[in-house]
Amino acid sequence: MPRDRGILVVGGGTAGWLAAAYLARFFAGRIPITLLESPDIGIIGVGEGAFPTIRATLQFLGIDEARFIREASATFKQGIRFDDWLHAPRDGTRHQYLHPFEAPFHTESTSLIPYWLLQDEATRASFAEAVTIQNRVAQACCAPKQGREGAYAGPLNYAYHFDARRLAQTLEARAVDLGVRHLKGLLTGVDLAEDGSIARIRTAEHGALEADLYLDCSGFRAELIGKALGVPFKSAKHQLFTDRALACKIPYADPDAPIESLTIATAHEAGWTWDISLESARGIGCVYSSAHMRDEDAAAILRAYIGHDDYKARIIPFEPGYRETQWAKNCVAVGLSGGFLEPLESTGVVLIEAAVAMIADLFPHSGPVDAPAARFNQLMAARYENIINFLKLHYCLSMRDEPFWRDNADPASIPEALQQLLRQWRHRPPSRFDFTLDVESFAFFNYQYILYGMGFRTDLSAARADFPDAEAAAKLFARIRSFGERAVEDLPTHRALIREINAGA
Ligand code: FAD
Repeated sequence: MPRDRGILVVGGGTAGWLAAAYLARFFAGRIPITLLESPDIGIIGVGEGAFPTIRATLQFLGIDEARFIREASATFKQGIRFDDWLHAPRDGTRHQYLHPFEAPFHTESTSLIPYWLLQDEATRASFAEAVTIQNRVAQACCAPKQGREGAYAGPLNYAYHFDARRLAQTLEARAVDLGVRHLKGLLTGVDLAEDGSIARIRTAEHGALEADLYLDCSGFRAELIGKALGVPFKSAKHQLFTDRALACKIPYADPDAPIESLTIATAHEAGWTWDISLESARGIGCVYSSAHMRDEDAAAILRAYIGHDDYKARIIPFEPGYRETQWAKNCVAVGLSGGFLEPLESTGVVLIEAAVAMIADLFPHSGPVDAPAARFNQLMAARYENIINFLKLHYCLSMRDEPFWRDNADPASIPEALQQLLRQWRHRPPSRFDFTLDVESFAFFNYQYILYGMGFRTDLSAARADFPDAEAAAKLFARIRSFGERAVEDLPTHRALIREINAGA
């Protein structure tokens, strides 16, 4: 009688535990799953921001939302605020725009986008403010929902900020509940079979371990996909320049201080800083390009941002890029071993979610275990390339004139696919038909928020007559304004909702 195929996950960070829990839940315990991790090596422990896809993932895993918020020290994330990306602060003015998660409001018959584009630039509201109430709600530090609303649901789209270590622990507990076998130990070697696949891994504490499919979740060390199988890494450094982060945590000066539900991303001369509000501390990091900035200058930027030097920061080097082959023979890379582009827009966990959902669905229950590899690699590579386009969009529209920003605006560093889209978007806004959904992490409206937040011009003036519903659109804009004002009065503050959830333990 044929036995079930076994899966061995190497690595117990977010990638390893999320993959193990997801597959255990998906296969309902029918496929044996073992996870090996080395507590001595530990996990990277950064990555505090997620994308709204995380809600469906946590719900699928059967993790209670309130429990997750308590255990992972999580808060709600409604989007990202970008400060100083268009231009550096000048004459006391700073540029600021929002990328909220909520899609622009629309009705079956009216898209507001062309009508906003046709408004007078000098007097119109900012794009995000005009098309969604979330702009106003998040700016007022309100929660995206009421406490009484159902788990993982609410009137406004949201994700979370969380403590990365505590998230991994929450996922670990759930995976073990779902039947995953947990081994603590160090992978010390890999034996290859004649066909170049993995025959077994060797460990210091548990001897040799064998499986049908190996998931490499060993982080930047890439023990299986990189070291053992030698799968090449494709650098994206010619397109995305940041390659270092200085990260730290600081407590709130006042325990009652409002909790931001936006990641605050502030541009500096050679990168940007993240500022993430958790329940009891802020995670702050300075991301920069080592080709454009020295480590001591980055440290000075972080210090100036925080306003004192009473913290410990650690430096995390990374190379932006990914492996075009993520599934090689009987090994699939998930998480940092497969690639990492940069912290902007929180795509690390999104890529893990995409990979594990595909592994589950394409899993070959019999026959060659690498049968789905070609398709998987094609879809994952396209996803990485599309994320590169989206991240590059944030940089290449900037008018800042430091070398880092000038290099980013140089067409030689802008992917051709993005350049083609930008040319079209001069004459029409981004459309859902610009993108193939199965290989996208971001939708057309995510692009709209960045483009129009950065002052990009789509000129519809010659086609004004093609948009005759200006009156209906004006009414909708007014409704969004008044709904936004009401929502700010009705919704609890973000801190109040987090307190209520934490008090319900
Ligand atoms: P790790 O956390 O490094 O885990 C690797 C695991 O492998 C560990 O358990 C380790 O012990 C184990 N291991 C390694 N070698 C061995 C061995 N020989 N034997 C046994 N075990 C071994 N993502 C987001 O979604 N949002 C963000 O805001 C975000 N910000 C980021 C900021 C920075 C600066 C960086 C670098 C990344 C960020 N990411 C972010 C990405 C995110 O951190 C990762 O995608 C996520 O943490 C997954 O990491 P991992 O599990 O692949 O690796």
